[in-house]
Amino acid sequence: LIVVRTIDDMRSWVRSIRAQERTIGFVPTMGALHDGHLQLAKRSKELADETVVSIFVNPTQFGPNEDLSRYPRPFDEDIKKCRDAGVSVVFHPSAIEIYGAGSFIGFKLDKMGDHLCGASRPGHFAGVIQIVNKLFNIVQPDTAIFGQKDYQQYRIMEQMVVEFNHPIKMVMNPTVRATNGLALSSRNRYLSEDELVLAPQIFIELQRIATDLATNPSVETATSASQGRLMAAGFKIDYISVVSNNDLQPLIEAHGTCIVAMAVYLGTTRLIDNLLVELS
Ligand code: AMP
Repeated sequence: LIVVRTIDDMRSWVRSIRAQERTIGFVPTMGALHDGHLQLAKRSKELADETVVSIFVNPTQFGPNEDLSRYPRPFDEDIKKCRDAGVSVVFHPSAIEIYGAGSFIGFKLDKMGDHLCGASRPGHFAGVIQIVNKLFNIVQPDTAIFGQKDYQQYRIMEQMVVEFNHPIKMVMNPTVRATNGLALSSRNRYLSEDELVLAPQIFIELQRIATDLATNPSVETATSASQGRLMAAGFKIDYISVVSNNDLQPLIEAHGTCIVAMAVYLGTTRLIDNLLVELS
């Protein structure tokens, strides 16, 4: 495993791999790696000759009152996990290396960024587009692997690859969960013991909404029942929505392939999860 910290070194590694006609799979992360990330690396190893994992807590995708400064950064543990997973390179640049003295170009999202996390985290997806574009240009992968856990992010990245003509194959890997159903997340580390007992309720409610929609397509009926149960259990609701899987627009009646998605707070920790459902 090689740890690369500069763009120049990353580019020369990429050149040497390209010269050997070997392919590159890429997994962008913010570190604090768990099995969800490692499954992406595993998938990358199946799809490409070499796997690059980036670990970069990207400041431009955090809002002013979000958890940028306290985001977990267990770098040595992350490196060990990457080494055990057979990753070729960990790209771990500083913010100065990536952004230099600043940035004068921003991104504006169209309707895919208006709902779900885009509504409650203004500027978040513009920051994600900015960093992933940079990383794609630096790492120049053949394949990039993202998790379904952040479905809206995946769809926006997929759209970005089309609109900016990145010659990259996009792959979405299923959400990895604990045995109790809780989606693995670096932010689960923030949860207290009591909150960890409550958190699996998120997945239970997503499944209940999917079951309810199969008999009654009214999104309002299914989501308001869930909202009530979650609030009674001590969750604060950011959103519970059912959107089209393609353009992420909210649905009033759920039919066909849809995403049931939610963002909720337990204390100050914001947790997201989603289910892809096929309805008649
Ligand atoms: P993050 O480090 O949270 O920015 O996530 C980096 C990548 O890992 C993104 O593509 C996420 O969707 C993916 N990811 C995070 N958690 C999971 C999970 N539980 N299962 C699958 N992929 C995940």
